[in-house]
Amino acid sequence: KIAIFWYRRDLRLDDNAGLYHALKSGYKVLPIFIFDTNILDMLENKKDQRVEFIHQALDDIQTKLVAFGSSLFVKYGNPTDIWQKIFSEFDIAEVYTNHDYEKYAIERDQAIGAMLNAKGIAFYTFKDQVIFEKKEILSGAGTPYTVFTPYSRKWKETLNDFYLKSYPNEAYFHNFIKTNPYPLPALEDIGFELTGFQFPKKDISEQLIHNYDEVRDFPSILGTSRLSVHLRFGTISVRKLAQVGVKLNEKWLNELIWRDFYMNILFHFPHISEGKSFRKEYDNIIWRNNEIEFGKWCEGKTGYPIVDAGMRELNATGFMHNRVRMITASFLIKHLLIDWRWGEAYFAEKLIDFDFSANNGGWQWASSSGCDAAPYFRIFNPTAQTQKFDPELKYIKKWIPELNSFDYPKPIVDHAFARERVLNAYKKALEKK
Ligand code: FAD
Repeated sequence: KIAIFWYRRDLRLDDNAGLYHALKSGYKVLPIFIFDTNILDMLENKKDQRVEFIHQALDDIQTKLVAFGSSLFVKYGNPTDIWQKIFSEFDIAEVYTNHDYEKYAIERDQAIGAMLNAKGIAFYTFKDQVIFEKKEILSGAGTPYTVFTPYSRKWKETLNDFYLKSYPNEAYFHNFIKTNPYPLPALEDIGFELTGFQFPKKDISEQLIHNYDEVRDFPSILGTSRLSVHLRFGTISVRKLAQVGVKLNEKWLNELIWRDFYMNILFHFPHISEGKSFRKEYDNIIWRNNEIEFGKWCEGKTGYPIVDAGMRELNATGFMHNRVRMITASFLIKHLLIDWRWGEAYFAEKLIDFDFSANNGGWQWASSSGCDAAPYFRIFNPTAQTQKFDPELKYIKKWIPELNSFDYPKPIVDHAFARERVLNAYKKALEKK
């Protein structure tokens, strides 16, 4: 009999909670990964950078496993069907995996867990992708926090070395199953193509983290870690990053706490996965939803340079600086009065670091419908934001070479007019409550 470790969004060998427990189970361990068709079939663009990122991460794990005479077992299909095949190929005693808090993942894990248990196979699951999960951070009244500042305070009070400690997986690598390598399907075999994209490095620059407070808001500077894609797919451990944050910069640690916060919100308030506003009264807003204007926003042709630069950065690289994510989101919702869910979906399609909880949190923050969101009357002025955060237009000119030519469009809407329009729409909707 063997134990199986099921990889999902934790694609690393080091400091991996579920893998650590599998390696200590007393059984030899076979690590597996399933390219899940329930997820992949929804991706229209077959040159999806995220699928390629996952593929590279699996290739990297495979190379390391083969070096110690083991292998990763990778399959493509519907998890229920794939598990049936795994049952017929291996004699399994136990299955280990790490928690995932998204709606689909919770339902999938319940179904697979029930299937395993029905066969007498134990299914063990662990916290790995956050520092605190579920009910670990609750208010004095035992309820989940919906405001960041008290949440982060409690988070920091609760933190101790135990929660930050890395799992010493390396000490147990001899417990991987010995086998000839299983083939890793090529991207083409699963219906995708190479993009040739250069992914952000996994390096942590101590100097960058140290200077984070001063430079983090300037999109023309490489002043943020660019680790989001690694956190998204678990190619880096959040515990290791939190150790760096604790040592070097509380402001940066706060960003990791925001990440935990939004995952907690998703866990406690699953209605946000059903396309609903966190605060239900915000679902009364009557949106304009002009498709032509939406198209211009997507393409970066609104005539507001900071908005257009951001959208062009997103389209070209799959990344957008946080400050500009806030400005572009606010612009779509408040200047164009387009439903935040349209923007959320567009970001979900394009961002290499797309994560449901952070993306939904960011969009609901911008639309003022979220927990601890910007008040609805706070409307970013793109011109003032530019003066503050890109005063020399360095970021803007990088993405809009035609800025000063006739080819660059006139503003899609007047700022003062748009401001009045959205204030009225929000007021009306909130009065209905
Ligand atoms: P750093 O500034 O170096 O921060 C370190 C890490 O902290 C990030 O890698 C990320 O994992 C986490 N983090 C930072 N800010 C936030 C935040 N506000 N919420 C949650 N986690 C945070 N982040 C995503 O990871 N995926 C998304 O899909 C996503 N969508 C967003 C949509 C909108 C509208 C907005 C306003 C923000 C969104 N963010 C999202 C949050 C944030 O913009 C990115 O995490 C950040 O820009 C990534 O760059 P970085 O790795 O250099 O971050």
